[in-house]
Parts: sequence; C-alpha cells; structure tokens
Amino acid sequence: MTQVFKFGGASIQDAAAIRRLGELLARFPARPLVVVVSAMGKTTNALEALLDAAREGETHDYRDGLERLRREHLATVETLFGAKAGPVAERVEALITELDGRHRRHAGRERAFHYDQTVCFGELLSTTIVSAWLDESGIATRWLDARDLIITDACHQAANIDWHTTAQRLGELDLGNEKLLVTQGFIGSTQDGLSTTLGREGSDFSAAILAHCLDAEKATIWKDVPGLFNADPRRFDNAVQLAHLSYAEAVELAWHGAKVIHPKTLAPLQRKSIPLVVRSFETVDTAGSLIDGDTRDDGEHPYCILSEGQTLLEIRPRDFDFMDEARQHEILGHLVKAGLHAGLIDNTAMRLMLCLDSHPARLEPLVQSLVVDYEVVRQDDLTLLTVRHPSASLLAGFSEGREILAERRNATTAQYLFRTEACPETWHIPGQ
Ligand code: ADP
Ligand code: ASP
Ligand code: MG
Repeated sequence: MTQVFKFGGASIQDAAAIRRLGELLARFPARPLVVVVSAMGKTTNALEALLDAAREGETHDYRDGLERLRREHLATVETLFGAKAGPVAERVEALITELDGRHRRHAGRERAFHYDQTVCFGELLSTTIVSAWLDESGIATRWLDARDLIITDACHQAANIDWHTTAQRLGELDLGNEKLLVTQGFIGSTQDGLSTTLGREGSDFSAAILAHCLDAEKATIWKDVPGLFNADPRRFDNAVQLAHLSYAEAVELAWHGAKVIHPKTLAPLQRKSIPLVVRSFETVDTAGSLIDGDTRDDGEHPYCILSEGQTLLEIRPRDFDFMDEARQHEILGHLVKAGLHAGLIDNTAMRLMLCLDSHPARLEPLVQSLVVDYEVVRQDDLTLLTVRHPSASLLAGFSEGREILAERRNATTAQYLFRTEACPETWHIPGQ
C-alpha cells in the first residue's frame, strides 16, 4: 500500500543533508512511496525577500538575491554530483531563468498572485536536485510537478483545495511499483495552470492531501526532533515526547500555535483514518510519535504552547456603550478581512480583547478600521502561553512573579498573556 513521506527544509538544507536523505530512503524499499519535499533550508524566506525587494523597486537587491539562490543551488549540485553535475546544473539554471521570467512577467499584478508565481520555485528547485541525487545513488525516482496534481482555487498564498479535481488527478496517476515518486510540498495550481501556494509551512498539508487522495496506509513527516513533545523541546527544558495522541488533540496543539505540524494537516488524514507519524530524520531508529483516531492517551500530560510576537488590542465602544454581539460580529468581520488570527478572544460588557500575531502589514489596517468607531488600546511585545489539560499548581507555577495581561480558561485549556520581557528564554514546565 502507498505511503507518503514528507521532508522539510532542514532535512535537505545542503549537500550533506541530501546525502543523508538518500541513505534514509534506501532503508525504505517498499513501493509505492510518495516523497513530498519542501524548499531547501531557508529558500522560501529568501524568495520572499527578493520578491519584496523587486516590488519596492530595489532592482539590485532582487538581482543579488536571485544570484545568491542560483549560486547556492548550483554549489549543492556540484558538491553532490562532481564531474557529473552538468545535466542537473542545466536544469537548475533553466528553473532560475524561468523564475526570473515569470517574476518579471507578473510584476504588475497584486502581491499575492506575484508571490505564488515567484515563490513556488523554491520547491521546484529542491525536488529537481533531490530527485536527481536519489537516481544517482541508485534509488529510481519519478519527478512529479505538484501543480499538475494539487488543484486549488485562486486564493493566492492561502489557496483552498479543489478536492474533487485533485482526487481525480491523483486517481489517474499511475503510481507504479518500482519508482519512488518525488514531488513538491506547499505548491499547487488553479485549473488554468497558474501556480498557487497553500500558506507558509504548508508542505505538511501537501503530504496529507496526497495521502488522503491516494488512500495511503500511513503518512510520515520527518523532522529535526524525535517526535511530538508536550512542549517545544527547544524552548522547554523538561518537555517529554508523546508516544501517541489523537487527531483531535493534535489539531488543538497545531491550532494554538505548536509549530511542529501545520494545522490543516490533520483533517484530510482523520477523514480517511490514515495514521500520521512524526519522527526524526536524524535518529531514524527511534519510533517517533503516532497520531490517529484513538483518544485514550490524550490529556496524560499537560501540553504547553508558546506564541511569541503577540499584540493585544483592547477595544471599547465610545460613550459607555455595550460590546454586544452586533459589535463583536462587526469587529471579527474586520479581523477576517485583515487576514489575522486571534489566539485569544475575551470580552466583558464594554470591552473586547483580541490577542493577535504582530503582523505589521495586517495589523495596521485593522487598527485603522477599528479606531473609526472604537477606542483601541494596543500593547506589543507579548507572549501567549496556552496550556492544555493544566493542573492548578502548574498554572500557579507559570504565573508566579509574572503579571498576567489577559487570561482565558475553559474545561481543557488555559491561556495567559505575558510581557515577553517577563518571560524566560528557556521555560520549565512546573511540577513535571
Ligand atoms: P519542517 O522542517 O518540517 O518545516 P519545523 O521546523 O516546522 O519542521 O518543525 C520542527 C520544529 O518544531 C522543531 O525543531 C521544534 O523546535 C518545533 N516544535 C514546536 N513545538 C513542538 C512540539 N510540541 N514537539 C516537537 N517539536 C516542536
Ligand atoms: N517552503 C515552505 C515554507 O518555508 C513550505 C514548507 O516548508 O512547509 O513555508
Ligand atoms: Mg515546518
């Protein structure tokens, strides 16, 4: 039965990492195997920077950025293939030329459309190199353009999947039993063949879409951590690995901001009861974490999620008026229009509190639209701590000696908003 593997930027960041990926894949001879790959290292950030430079008229910075990307990808090809680099280097050059051409052709269009026509090349470049390297190292591959398979609407930078057409395209695909299939995460295309992207960090979601439509037996996302922990192991010194949790619990963690899985990943897998495994590409012999429909282990540990770079808006009607449902509806409408997500929403009779990602380009227009009718008090540089299944002593430990600027609690989840300057660099889960 088909399996889907997904590898993020860190697992293919340079020639040595791509070599290790080849060694890892050599241990999985069963076919069909679909391998979804992100852009190398921080390529997507670099592409975003060169797009913005060009749009601001900084032609030099655009050219420098493009040249740097070209050199970095070619250097990887040369390190991997040595004297045999020629044909792969030519394909990389051709993709860079195509990137430049598309970028220029669409320069007059709105940013989101222009973004998708430019930034999709990160994954096209990485999969070209990875696929060629696997072939070279004895693992026969077939390179697939995800834009022929994952069909979306034209909501650029956050495209919605056309599940019917995507399932049809994938249903027509001959998976074969010999070759490993390599394709791109993060990207898709409209019915008209225009490139789209699924949102930053969207490659996990791509893997889930493919697993769903191909009725895969299992999806595995390979990370630089041994599995899913009850807190980010890089930020909490006593985080513990979770052997197993349910789709529903994993959605909660991802939705509240645990960076390890893209929140959209779980639903397509849950709908077909396809297990998801999160495991380490660095320590391949460890089992990782299993996510499936079984809820038995949920809540065995408290789960802590940090969202940094938060802004709190306290919104009050003028003239001592109520913050009633009609006003809340109106304000949340502004929020949706601005494309912002509120990690915490709380209200009293005359006040609505929203805790949002400090995304200047989206936050400024939102505040401008709110101040027309409301008094708005804003605080920046905040950290939101969300704890699932907390005990009273754990919450007391987290808040001790730290002012809580906003808080919210229900039967399963507690949230505290702190000033970032009052938070430690490395956290400790109290009493664990
Ligand atoms: P990818 O290369 O697939 O994009 P990410 O960098 O997005 O990988 O995700 C892996 C990172 O997620 C880890 O390095 C870790 O710091 C972070 N992380 C955040 N929360 C958790 C958690 N609860 N469990 C494991 N890792 C976590
Ligand atoms: N390359 C894209 C990003 O950096 C998608 C991904 O890595 O999941 O956001
Ligand atoms: Mg990621």
